[in-house]
Amino acid sequence: MAERWALVENGLPPPLVALLLRVRELAAKEGYSLYLVGGPLRDLLLARPVLDLDLVTEGDGPALASLLAKATGGQVVAHHPFGTAKVKLPGLAVDIATARYETYPHPGALPAVYPGTILEDLARRDFTINAMALRLCPGDDWPLLDPLHGEKDLRQGLVRALHDKSFQDDATRIWRAVRYEQRLGFHLEDGTENALRRDLAYLDTISPDRLRHEVERTLDESQPERAFARAKELGVLAASFPPLCWSPAKGQAVADQTSSGRKAGPLLLLALLAADLTPPQAEGFISRLALPSRWATAVRHTVALRERLGELDDVTLRSSQVYATVARFDEAAIQTVSLLLPPGPAKDHLDRFLSVDRYAKPRLRGDDLLALGVPQGPLLGSLMEELKQKCLDGELTGREAEKEYVLRRLTEAKG
Ligand code: ATP
Repeated sequence: MAERWALVENGLPPPLVALLLRVRELAAKEGYSLYLVGGPLRDLLLARPVLDLDLVTEGDGPALASLLAKATGGQVVAHHPFGTAKVKLPGLAVDIATARYETYPHPGALPAVYPGTILEDLARRDFTINAMALRLCPGDDWPLLDPLHGEKDLRQGLVRALHDKSFQDDATRIWRAVRYEQRLGFHLEDGTENALRRDLAYLDTISPDRLRHEVERTLDESQPERAFARAKELGVLAASFPPLCWSPAKGQAVADQTSSGRKAGPLLLLALLAADLTPPQAEGFISRLALPSRWATAVRHTVALRERLGELDDVTLRSSQVYATVARFDEAAIQTVSLLLPPGPAKDHLDRFLSVDRYAKPRLRGDDLLALGVPQGPLLGSLMEELKQKCLDGELTGREAEKEYVLRRLTEAKG
């Protein structure tokens, strides 16, 4: 199979090719059957970049991982239940798992796992395009095990579940389906789409941590906005948390952010996703996903700031007034709210705050005020605050003007 070797040789970065050959040789010597599986094989067949290796053996995966680490000077950095281990080498990682067979005690539960054959391991997977294995055996042969016809689905651009109850067994696969479809530019196979729509309610069986994990992985996609738009269309957003919504305006907000040369990072995307929730709904969303505090803050601040936009819709507001309203809000929240606003005073105020005013600082520091004779105490704090406001409003430009102002206020305070 010279063709498949060419695929491996040309499709993987050279250090991964060398590592693959090394582990293949080691497995043969030690009597392990070994397979390249999952995302790396799928991406290899699609000629997409592959950055790490995902291997399965019908023997003891962690034991093979230890042998590989010893032979290469690598380190076994993670060793999970279910017989999986990760070996890290400089700039490279390889996952080695024991082939497994799974059953689901009830929808949403973690599966019960037993060692199994490679065919059982493929049959427990989510979609046909992820359920192939390239056998790594000595010699020129690179046999592809494709019992579920994943290669054909890859060629036809289809995301196809392995069986009708797949989303009931594990509803996280609903989010996975949306991600693969949008990332790869594929389509849900008709039966799979019907099953997905039918089984949306099973998303309720997923714990907050598992649901958050799916949303996080979606945020990490290169174009998460596509996945969110599709998730909205399929009813996945509403089934994950009822008031959640994506809109063309949010897609446009991402496009505007990207075209201004700044990346729409995960926090901003999450804030966009949650932007039209009410404060009580935002609290519900935060607990449904058990969001960590930094993320929860971005969500809370986004909805809270949107509630205060009326105060900013006034062209005559001075920078110091805008600052007083806006400065306490998280940056991602302010950015999100601005991106969603039509042109107008509120948007201008937020943009000016983000680009200029939030950096405004008087030239004089506390020490300078002490040197000018201001005593330690409340007056020092309030003069610093006044200086800041005057700087924001362009009323004091330069160190000398600030000094004169402080001396005048000091005299007034004494008098
Ligand atoms: P990505 O390309 O998004 O990094 P991946 O395809 O490598 O993802 P992982 O989430 O790392 O996917 O999972 C590795 C493999 O494990 C998948 O290719 C899939 O075969 C299988 N898998 C992962 N999650 C599930 C699941 N919920 N149900 C069934 N199989 C799964």
